[in-house]
Amino acid sequence: MLSLPKLLLLLAVIGAVWYGFRMFAQIQAAREKEGDGTKVRGARSSRRTIPAQDLVLCEKCKSYVTPEGSGCRRGDCPYDR
Ligand SMILES: [Zn+2]
Repeated sequence: MLSLPKLLLLLAVIGAVWYGFRMFAQIQAAREKEGDGTKVRGARSSRRTIPAQDLVLCEKCKSYVTPEGSGCRRGDCPYDR
């Protein structure tokens, strides 16, 4: 037989689960809005790009340098600035 305290506890547990689920759904909706509105789940990971620079091979010193950077700091380096 369900007593009143047990019934209240059951209601509280159900309410907490329902409230938690609603918050979870709101967070999910906010995350999907964060992008450009597209709901493509697979493209989400490709949007995260790491800031990186492409390196180019310097013919003079045979090492990889950033084209916008200061090169290899040798006198005849074409990428030295
Ligand atoms: Zn160089």
